[in-house]
Amino acid sequence: MTSQTPSDCLFCKIVAGEIPSDRVAETERSVAFRDISPAAPIHVLVVPRRHESTVGALAASSGDDLTDVFRLASQVAEQEGVADAHRMIVNTGSKAGQTIFHAHVHLLAGAAFTEGRM
Ligand code: 5GP
Ligand code: ZN
Repeated sequence: MTSQTPSDCLFCKIVAGEIPSDRVAETERSVAFRDISPAAPIHVLVVPRRHESTVGALAASSGDDLTDVFRLASQVAEQEGVADAHRMIVNTGSKAGQTIFHAHVHLLAGAAFTEGRM
């Protein structure tokens, strides 16, 4: 699996404010910002402030960070008025479509989700 150090990681730079983003919410542990290339009317990325390459690595290293990421994603869903109509997606590995190797959850909503699966 590709690993990036925080110094060359895009999401670490977004967390640090070195690269601008449309931030919608944050906690001490996590940051939520809009995806630059939205796949749905509402498409927010929620990332831990601490760099881990995947959500699995995050889960293994800090349950508190993992919980906070999903808690913040739920809070953003509520904030966006889609608490009862959203998807949270995690891609792990380039074969599954992961392009940024800093753990993140996609919050997607506003589209008609008619399929039970992707
Ligand atoms: P992945 O494919 O790794 O699961 O998701 C990475 C996401 O990051 C993609 O949906 C992509 O559009 C988004 N993204 C890539 N570069 C930037 C950026 O510079 N700013 C923001 N806000 N999102 C980005
Ligand atoms: Zn990072």
